[in-house]
Amino acid sequence: MSRRRQVYEGKAKVLYEGPEPGTLVQYFKDDATAFNNQKKGTITGKGVLNNRISEYVMSRLNEIGVPTHFVRRLNMREQLVREVEIIPLEVIVRNIAAGSLSKRLGIPEGTPLPRSIIEFCYKSDELDDPLIAEEHITAFGWASPQEIDEIMSMTLRINDFLTGLFTGINIRLVDFKIEFGRLYENDQMRIILDDEISPDSCRLWDVTTNEKLDKDRFRRDMGGAAEAYQEVARRLGILPEGGPRDLKGPDTMQ
Ligand code: 5GP
Repeated sequence: MSRRRQVYEGKAKVLYEGPEPGTLVQYFKDDATAFNNQKKGTITGKGVLNNRISEYVMSRLNEIGVPTHFVRRLNMREQLVREVEIIPLEVIVRNIAAGSLSKRLGIPEGTPLPRSIIEFCYKSDELDDPLIAEEHITAFGWASPQEIDEIMSMTLRINDFLTGLFTGINIRLVDFKIEFGRLYENDQMRIILDDEISPDSCRLWDVTTNEKLDKDRFRRDMGGAAEAYQEVARRLGILPEGGPRDLKGPDTMQ
């Protein structure tokens, strides 16, 4: 049987050539890594849950007019996405101090920030995704000043929308990371959201108990990561049909 051509394999996802030109199939693995691959493991069912959670969030964003690469979910672990030209930036939004911001600036985790802060990192595993300034982005030609403006305004809309979405299910959106790409269509270029939005890329704390419902449970050896991802999916009303027992799922359905 002929296999699809693999275009790229990342730490948590694989991209395959899609059925039509300009499309890709994004496959979600259970593999979890942290600290730039120094810590490796698996979170059972994570791929199935992140496929669903990202589908849900990206569909809602598409509905409110934020363009994303998401086209449709294909099966338990795969979704069809549009192929984009990658902009090599990780865009981080912070509403509450945590993680590397707390470490870098000595602000205790959980401190509300005076306003939402957007940070940029250069996407490079070899360099450990270093924090950069807009000056680096424009000087090295990773994005133009106009593109940075567009990315920032889309990012603030995404933050507003996600904050409301998660507040509605008693979850505090502490921070998250998103990525963008260029889509060329009819001689026009648009910037669209790509990658994924899931508990792998967001810090999500229960509003009442401050319990962590995200990848920090894996990063910090707290246990209960799979249950935390399930809880997010459950609150969003999108647990896979069979409930938690269905999470292992088929590896792929082609
Ligand atoms: P921090 O800079 O505090 O480590 O991360 C800030 C936010 O961005 C967290 O929600 C974290 O999950 C997300 N984030 C930062 N870098 C990465 C990355 O390389 N991969 C993923 N999945 N998320 C990231």
